[in-house]
Formats: sequence, structure tokens, C-alpha cells
Amino acid sequence: MDKILNYINGELVEPKSGNYLDNYNPSNGKVYSLIPDSDKDDIDAAVAAAKEAFNTWSKTPKQERSDILMKLADAIEKNFEELVKAESKDNGKPESLAAHVDIPRAPANIRFFAGAILHDSAKVHEMDGMAINYTLRKPLGVAACISPWNLPLYLLTWKVAPALAAGNTVVAKPSEVTPMTAYLFSKICIEAGLPKGVLNIVHGLGSKVGDPLTTHPDVPVVSFTGGTVTGKHIASITAPMFKKLSLELGGKNPNIIFDDADFEKAVSNAARAAFTNQGQICLCGSRLFVQKGIYNKFREALILKTKKLTVGDPKDSNSKLGAVVSKEHMQKILDKIALAKSLGGNILTGGEREILEGDLKSGYYIQPTIIEGLDFDCEVNQEEIFGPVVSIIPFDTEEQVIEMANSTKYGLSASIFTENISKGHRVAAAIDSGVVWINTWLLRDLRIPFGGMKHSGVGREGGFKSLEFFTEPKNVCVKI
Ligand code: NAD
Repeated sequence: MDKILNYINGELVEPKSGNYLDNYNPSNGKVYSLIPDSDKDDIDAAVAAAKEAFNTWSKTPKQERSDILMKLADAIEKNFEELVKAESKDNGKPESLAAHVDIPRAPANIRFFAGAILHDSAKVHEMDGMAINYTLRKPLGVAACISPWNLPLYLLTWKVAPALAAGNTVVAKPSEVTPMTAYLFSKICIEAGLPKGVLNIVHGLGSKVGDPLTTHPDVPVVSFTGGTVTGKHIASITAPMFKKLSLELGGKNPNIIFDDADFEKAVSNAARAAFTNQGQICLCGSRLFVQKGIYNKFREALILKTKKLTVGDPKDSNSKLGAVVSKEHMQKILDKIALAKSLGGNILTGGEREILEGDLKSGYYIQPTIIEGLDFDCEVNQEEIFGPVVSIIPFDTEEQVIEMANSTKYGLSASIFTENISKGHRVAAAIDSGVVWINTWLLRDLRIPFGGMKHSGVGREGGFKSLEFFTEPKNVCVKI
């Protein structure tokens, strides 16, 4: 059986304890590899290696850092097929999705920041001929980069790339649920000649690896993407240590369809927003508000479209949905569907575990599910489910839908579908979320600051914001 290894000081190493955890393939429910069950000793070794490497990496000219990162991106592309298969096997998502979204985005992330670091600039503030002020930005040191299981390599590189480009060294902790692409990435780093200690990857359980990492005295900065509960815990232990912290957390995103929307575009985007990656994207539109004038027609069209989405073998290019990530997660989603029914929700389509044939019969498949008839403020419409489940809710007026959309504790993203430009802009401004799309969903420009409001996060990542986050500003005032 394949053994995943930690990547510390440029080498692939066993966890110091010698202990391993099982790694499951969600498509068939079978163990297919072993994950290091790392602990504080492994983190101490990784942080020490990163601290040592910082002395050189932080002083390496930007052009050289950029060249090394570009080589890393090229090396990912050389290993494209292997990464696609690994991401799908580890996570359960269709290979076609990994090939179109997750894996191409990893080199795109790296190239973006390798380029951005060469084109960064600073402002000068002049004081009426008396003085000038300018800001120097210095890397912070060893950065902790913690990523979740839903887009494993995509989100790992989204953090690691700006941290390294800005001159920090990194200790990364991928999710223990989907460690394989991070492991392959560590092999790619070795192949591409990344200097030793610049990036270290330690695998293992959340708090057993995460707590020693986030509280390590030699780690001044933590970039975390994951659940709101974990984010709250990390904030509570790192704030008294005055660490710099970025939190990208959960969402319960509204998708708002007005009567005057382009109907076909709105239906197909609503299905995409609800079910892509089995609904396991933080930006998924899990609350679908549809204006009453088109509600019945829209509901029927969405049901029809959803019924055509094949749940199947992730390796099959006809499968639109694969397996959800784990048995525990599948049960959590099924429990939420049961809760929805107990609250009076009517299942319009789906609602059950899908049992596939042969080797896949023990896989974790759930039918794409539409629920109608729930109050906008009930638990199912307020808490993140993170599965292929969407709740459809009718509305009358713009004011009413804004109030319902803003009723959750989250504020990550929203979509609005209308052909009325003024209304689109007006509603976008009124929705409490860090990202709003008008007439589309999940269109990402890497230059744009990304992140959530309220319990969906603190800080923004993306573009020059990430380079700012991973550097400390020092203001210099010169009397002239
Ligand atoms: P999670 O919070 O359980 O785990 C995320 C990561 O944190 C994993 O690597 C985990 O091992 C680690 N972790 C757990 N406990 C820790 C601790 N005490 N200290 C440090 N690290 C710890 O989240 P998940 O289930 O992997 O991911 C799903 C969640 O992530 C959803 O809520 C989703 O909305 C959110 N998410 C948010 C974004 C965003 O950009 N806002 C993107 C993707 C996913």
C-alpha cells in the first residue's frame, strides 16, 4: 500500500512516531494509502527547517524566486495526468472536474504570484516639500498554510504561492482527508529544485498537527482555509500571541433569480452553483431565491436539469457528480436532508444515498437534491451543509430577498440574476458578502481580493492583497 510521507527540509520523511492513518478512496469506500499521523515533533522539525531556509530565501532576489516558482508550475503541468487521477481518487470528485478546474488552477496560482512579485509597487506620500513617506514591505518569516479537502491542491497553492513569492518560507498542513496531491506536489518540488526547507508539508490530524503549528513561537503568520468552527478555534489561540491571521471560512451563499433574468442562463448557473464538486465548494449557491413571477417555471426547469445530472464513477467522463469526500461527511449531509424533511421540507428530486454497482457499491454517493418549503430562517437554511443540496425559496420584492439573503451569520459570496443593470448593482451593494457575481457564478479573477464577511472570514486573499498579507509594512519618513 502507498505510504504518503512528510516533506521536511527538502526530503520525504516518515513521521517521527512511525504512526500512520488510513486514507480512503471515497468512490469505493476502501483504504488505498497511508497518511503520516504526525505530531508536534514533526512540526518542530519542519518549522526549524523553514526558519533556517528563511535566512537565504528571504534574501534571494525576486527574479530568482520568481524563476524557481515558474519552474514549479511547469513541473506540475508535466505531472498533470497523475495529479488529476490522484485528486479524484482522494476526494471522490469526477476526474473531468479535476482536469478542468483543480489541477490547472494550481500552476495558474503559482505563475500569478511569481509574476506579481516582479510587478509590485509602493506608494510615496509627499508632505508639501517637507518630507516624503514610503513603505517597505518585508517577508514575515515562517508562514503556516492550512488548507481544506474540497479543492486540495488548488487551495494549497493559493496560499503557498504568495507566501513563497513574497520571500517567506512555509510549513503547510493539507487536510488529512485528501493528502495525496500535496504529497505528489512535494515530490514535484524536489524534482523542480525548490531549495530545501523553503516549503515543508506535514500531514496528519487537524488539532494534533494544527495546534503545534499555529501556536509555534517561530511562526508569526497563519493563513487558514476551512470550517468556521476551526477558524474560531485558531483565532482564539493565535490572537493572544499577536499572530497575523487570515481566515477563509464557510458560507451559506444566496443565489437570487429575479423575474427579469435570462431564464436559461439562470437555470444552468443555479444547477452549477448548487452541485459542482458535489456541492462541496465554499462558494456554492445553497440557498436559491426565485421571484414569484417565474417561480413555478424555474422550479420545473431546475428539476429537469438536475435529474439529468449523472451521479457515477468519478473516472467516467459522463459523471457530473462523483462521491462526497468521506463516510462521515455523507452521513452529515443525509442527516441534514432528514432534518429538512422533519421541518416540513418537500424533496423535489434526490434526497437519497445513491448506491452504484460493483466495486463502487460502498462509495459515498448522494443524489443531487432540491428542497422546497422551508422557512428562510430555519436551521437547514442557516447552517452550511456542504453537499449536493439546494433549498429553493420564493420571494416577492427586492427588499424582502435582501433581508432573507442577509439573514445568516455567513457572508462569503452571492449571485444575482437580472437583466436590469441598475437593480443588479443595487442588490449587489446591499448583500453582506465578500464576493458578489451578477449573471454568473464562480468566475474568478486572481487579481481581485477574495474572502468573506461576518463568520465567513477575516482578511482577504488574492492578488496583491495576498502579497501584502504575507509581508510586514514598515513606514519610513524622510525629512527633505
Ligand atoms: P476543517 O476546518 O475541518 O479543516 C480545514 C483544515 O484545518 C484541515 O487541514 C484540518 O486538518 C485543519 N485543522 C483542523 N483542526 C485544526 C486545528 N485545531 N488547528 C489547525 N488546523 C486544523 O474544514 P474542512 O472540512 O477541511 O473544509 C470544509 C470547510 O472549508 C467548509 O466550511 C468550507 O466552506 C470551507 N472552505 C472555505 C473556503 C473559503 O475560501 N472561504 C474555501 C474552501 C473551503
